[in-house]
Amino acid sequence: MANITRDFFIGLSNNHFLNSQAKKWGFSLGADKFVAGTTVDSVLKAVKKLNAQGISCTLDSLGEFVSDKTEASQAKEKIITLLNEIDREKLDCHLSVKLTQLGLDIDRDFCIENMKEILRTAKQYDIFVNIDMEDYAHYDETLEVLEDLRKDYGNVGIVIQSYLYRAEDDLADLKDVRIRIVKGAYKESEEVAYPDKTDIDLNFLALAKQRLLGDTFTSIGTHDHHIINELKAFAKENNIEHDKFEFQMLYGFRNDLQNKLADEGYNFCTYIPFGDDWFGYFMRRLAERPQNMNLVMKDMFYTEDSKLKKGPLAVGGAVAAASALVFWCVKSNRHQKK
Ligand SMILES: Cc1cc2nc3c(=O)[nH]c(=O)nc-3n(C[C@H](O)[C@H](O)[C@H](O)COP(=O)(O)OP(=O)(O)OC[C@H]3O[C@@H](n4cnc5c(N)ncnc54)[C@H](O)[C@@H]3O)c2cc1C
Repeated sequence: MANITRDFFIGLSNNHFLNSQAKKWGFSLGADKFVAGTTVDSVLKAVKKLNAQGISCTLDSLGEFVSDKTEASQAKEKIITLLNEIDREKLDCHLSVKLTQLGLDIDRDFCIENMKEILRTAKQYDIFVNIDMEDYAHYDETLEVLEDLRKDYGNVGIVIQSYLYRAEDDLADLKDVRIRIVKGAYKESEEVAYPDKTDIDLNFLALAKQRLLGDTFTSIGTHDHHIINELKAFAKENNIEHDKFEFQMLYGFRNDLQNKLADEGYNFCTYIPFGDDWFGYFMRRLAERPQNMNLVMKDMFYTEDSKLKKGPLAVGGAVAAASALVFWCVKSNRHQKK
């Protein structure tokens, strides 16, 4: 059942039509719980708030299904504007980018040029840029682009996904590169990825421990308190300095735990997505944890003191609209699979 739900939401995340429609209804459906607005100004406001709590940030300017060079160039320009603003406001913040957004599927050399322009600007401001890891179809190419970029730029890093069998070998090849370790968000074949959650979790712990014993900075990207607690204990037992690693979580998830870790003196970084292209991102979060829907529903219907925000008629209308939306999603997903 869990796999069916996961496949369903991953299917929705890949649906072009729904992605484009979502830009229209977007924030009124509660996307602002996980996405810090649509503009650079809105995301900078969120960063300032978190920085004031001792939390650093990494920003993701959302963009899915980039299919022409104009769109990719616009994405690059937006990222460069962001870098200028981070420097101007002296924020504790770096960037997370996806290579497909910068044209990897269109023309690899063009994508590399876009990345180089971003890294040149970031280097001038001493800002780090992390390349998010996408699905396995882009895996080899992403590592090859990283290798190319590393010849000229040291301020770039990558993500390793513990669901992949090859993660340990790749991590060994990337000893000198700043890495974020995550479990992996895409639906992959059993030929390349562990199907069983227990194996993915065990591999995450093994990879993270290996990195903590090494010399290069590591970001531990998870909301899983079992993993976090075990790694905290491991760092303590092995006298690993706090400045060698940080915990990372996504904006809007487990805020109490985010603050607790920062208060305990661990480096903590919140990954903040922003922009109107939020649908695919949000569907992947529902695929990981359908309970995330509760957060959105609570936000739509209830005030902080658990009172209904709207009158019964409005709530009835919204429920009917949500049901119609789910029905439409299911239908549309079936069409896409045919
Ligand atoms: C900062 C960051 C960056 C990421 N970057 C990438 C990337 O580049 N590429 C990629 O493929 N994936 C990325 N991911 C997604 C990642 O791969 C996982 O899909 C996602 O984080 C879910 O796995 P998890 O380890 O957080 O916890 P899960 O395996 O989803 O959950 C494990 C346990 O943790 C607890 N838990 C989890 N979430 C909650 C919650 N919201 N509230 C209460 N308890 C909870 C529950 O007990 C749950 O059983 C990123 C994740 C983070 C946090």
